[in-house]
Amino acid sequence: MRKPIIAGNWKMNGTITEATILVEELKSLLGTEELPCDVVLCPPFTTLATVLDLVDETLIGVGAQNMDYHESGAFTGEVSPAMITEVGAQYVILGHSERREYYGETDAAVNAKIKAAFQYDLTPIVCVGESLEQREANHTKAWIEGQLEGAFKDIPKEEAMETVIAYEPIWAIGTGKTATADQAEEVCRDIRKKMAHLYDVETAEAIRIQYGGSVKGSNAKELLSEPNIDGALVGGASLIAADFKAIIDGT
Ligand code: PEP
Repeated sequence: MRKPIIAGNWKMNGTITEATILVEELKSLLGTEELPCDVVLCPPFTTLATVLDLVDETLIGVGAQNMDYHESGAFTGEVSPAMITEVGAQYVILGHSERREYYGETDAAVNAKIKAAFQYDLTPIVCVGESLEQREANHTKAWIEGQLEGAFKDIPKEEAMETVIAYEPIWAIGTGKTATADQAEEVCRDIRKKMAHLYDVETAEAIRIQYGGSVKGSNAKELLSEPNIDGALVGGASLIAADFKAIIDGT
């Protein structure tokens, strides 16, 4: 059985003061009971240490939203895998569509980042997804298969099994438009099939696949009840403690 994983991508939101309020609220809503799923908060780099301190002694995990794949050096503005591991984070989001669109992140870069993440004991959450034009032209399956081939090139089976894949249709991110449960399930099923083809059925069955795109408390349960959807990557709704808790409750 795959354990569901709900991750909150705060994007470029949250000063230290705001992050502290949000995490304290979430902690009090979640209480001290065992969580029904893995819960991961991905705040901006500047609040990673604060959030890690606040979730210490809870079961909440923490991830970065991006990283460079180089060890160190003249890469102004970038953050290395070692830095993220040292601060105490366990996860890193890679290949988010905003990184691909605004910062030119390629499948080859995502591939290098996955390799670097595993070298530094970070679990990658690898985002894939199609644009509206690609969906309307019936190119979704081929496009996502290409993204997976690029991202997982030369990644060993043991690492692929540990990777979380987030299916995020670009047209549903931050737009309020959610893929229907059927649409999301169809692509997540295709992703699992493709991973079986790239590796084997055992690997594909182990990989956790999230859906992301305007997930909120009101639609989480339906999406998360699909057999190939093992969690959610949540943007906007992860900034409101009660909404994020409602999504966690939907697992
Ligand atoms: C995201 O950015 O990963 C995302 C899914 O955003 P939202 O939930 O706001 O659509």
